[in-house]
Formats: sequence, C-alpha cells, structure tokens
Amino acid sequence: MKTIGILGGMSAASTQIYYRELCHQTRVRLGGLHSPELLIRSLDFARIEQLQVTGDWDAAGAILNDEAKALQRGGAELMILATNTMHKLAEQMMAGVTIPLVHIADATAQAIKRAKLLSPGLMATAFTMEQTFYTERLAAAGLRPLLPNGDDRAETHRIIYEELCKDITNPDSEAAYVAIARRLAAAGADCLILGCTEVGMLLNQGNVPVPVFDTTLIHCQTALDRALD
Ligand code: GLU
Repeated sequence: MKTIGILGGMSAASTQIYYRELCHQTRVRLGGLHSPELLIRSLDFARIEQLQVTGDWDAAGAILNDEAKALQRGGAELMILATNTMHKLAEQMMAGVTIPLVHIADATAQAIKRAKLLSPGLMATAFTMEQTFYTERLAAAGLRPLLPNGDDRAETHRIIYEELCKDITNPDSEAAYVAIARRLAAAGADCLILGCTEVGMLLNQGNVPVPVFDTTLIHCQTALDRALD
C-alpha cells in the first residue's frame, strides 16, 4: 500500500471526513485490522482564507508548494489536496514535486462519465463556481456544468464559510441547500456535484433528487484505488 499525503485543513471540518472515509474504505476493502498509510498536513485555514479574500493567490500557492514538497520528503508516494477551491493552484503547488497528484475535479468528472451523465449542477465556493479553473476542467472532460443563479451561489458560499468550515450544521441551511439542489435539477442538471469538500455535511443521496457526486468521497475512493494499485 502506498502512502497518501493529504494536504488539508481547508477546512479542518472536511479533513476529518477524509480521514474517517479513508480509514473506513480501507477496512471495507482489505478487512481485518487494515488502515491506510497516511501523512496528513493540516494547515491553519484562517491564514489561507485571508489570502483568498485578498486575492493573494501567489502567496497561497507558495505555501501549498512548500507543504507538498514537505509531504514528499516525509515519504508520501501520492498527493491529495483536500479542497476543491485550492485546486486553482494545483500547478503551482506541484512545481518541483515528482509524486502524482490525484486531482479532485478529474476524479469527479470520471465518476460522472462512468455513470453516463452529462450536465452536473455544481455547488461549491464562489471561487470554484465563478472562476474558470474548475468548470473548464469539467468541460474538458466532456461535461456541461450548470451553476446556481447569483443569489443561490452567494448563499451556497456563505454557508460554507460561515458554518460548514466551522463544523456547524443547521436545519435551515440544509433546507436552503436542498432547495438550491432542486432548482438546479429543475433547470436541467442530470446530477449534482458537491463541489466543496464540506457540502456533504448537508447534502447526500437521501435529500437530493438527482444522482449525487460528493467530491470528498470520490477523492478518497480514487486515492485509495491508486494507493492499492
Ligand atoms: N473545502 C472547500 C472546497 O472544497 C472550501 C474551503 C477552501 O476554500 O479551501 O472548496
């Protein structure tokens, strides 16, 4: 089994889900007392969020690059970056790093294509929905992503930063997310990408009317496939 390096803490709420999910899936696949070989680097998200808000993406990219190199030096044999948004900086992060990166958007696009679906609704941070680094990657894989309307994008983003990243879940926000997911389905989305690693704290196949692709869970599955290959 290869050692997976996880660059996380973005937020810490979802890095905990990664850890739990990777442990669970390893137990399911290998049985017995097996657990995954992991190196987890959990950053202080306040520092990263500040750079996002001020638009200092270069500084954020330099931090990710230093951390990716440290994970490689520490023995990681493949890398995952446990956030969709920060994949904006994937290239800068991997400069000078030779271990492979399991890209969250590619893993998700492949899962949707295997299911023979085409037009995923995308619920994510404003950065992921409104900049092109993520949607273009989905389009390059042959998908036609559909975004929530402006108000719904703002509300999706607000709930991520004000609640989910602080490990807060509440029924009103769940209802708001379910309504946004329904509007995307009504607008023609044939499936839904939970395109932020915290969105699965509120949405799942039980409360969304179209097939759900949770990027956190798909990322874990794909990383484990590679680690066990
Ligand atoms: N975890 C989130 C994501 O998947 C948002 C936090 C961040 O900006 O990294 O995009």
